Amino acid sequence: MKVLVPVKRVLDYNLKVKVKSDQSGVDLSNLKMAMNPFCEIAVEEAVRLKEKGVVTEIVAVSIGPEQAQETIRTALAMGADRGILVKVDGDVEPLAVAKILKGIVEAESPQLVILGKQAIDDDANQTGQMLAALLGWPQGTFAFKIDVASDKVTVTREVDGGLQTVALNLPAIVTTDLRLNEPRYASLPNIMKAKKKPIDVKAAADYGVDTAPRLKVLKVTEPPKRQGGVKVKTVAELVDKLKNEAGVL
Ligand code: AMP
Repeated sequence: MKVLVPVKRVLDYNLKVKVKSDQSGVDLSNLKMAMNPFCEIAVEEAVRLKEKGVVTEIVAVSIGPEQAQETIRTALAMGADRGILVKVDGDVEPLAVAKILKGIVEAESPQLVILGKQAIDDDANQTGQMLAALLGWPQGTFAFKIDVASDKVTVTREVDGGLQTVALNLPAIVTTDLRLNEPRYASLPNIMKAKKKPIDVKAAADYGVDTAPRLKVLKVTEPPKRQGGVKVKTVAELVDKLKNEAGVL
């Protein structure tokens, strides 16, 4: 069984971003980029399925600038077999990503596509769902546990207040949630081996997709600064502050 894993290059999640002075977006210049954490979980899950003998080939795909090759190399070092880079400069909205992925699915015929539930840069949480709709495939989003058996995938999903289990006919789309697994660190020998694994380079036009943005960002602003807290000595003082300063009682 072949699995496709789309991996996005995003700002390293440990870093803090600053809003540009013209409020047109966040300033990413000279900041470290890395694989989106939910995509790492998707790669890890695919590799575990391969280790179990369920999956035979893992194809990692990234849509982005030339440097997104590094993100694909990380996936290859974790255990993916080959990569496809669809080179696009500038932002690509989820609908365009989903349309390109549809083209790749048609060319590659995977049985399963495992995506992250969301990319931590734009927090869209849309691509997997849009891809499922474009392909007319069943989807199991926010996966907490995945079991693949013959022609079905059972996905336990994280939903508000608990877990929900759905059984999907293959081919299917799954998106990963945080608790699905803990991604491995690539070992040095695997990083070296990954350098020799093939990466095909394509363009959005190869899939007939126009990546021009359909949305216009009007303004990006910093969240309001948090006010400093105060310690109160007595319950009476607390009640007084809630009544007279916060006005919530
Ligand atoms: P989003 O809908 O943007 O929050 O992204 C959800 C998931 O879609 C990500 O975790 C990736 O698996 C996939 N994805 C989104 N954008 C890209 C991209 N440019 N290249 C590869 N995969 C992507």
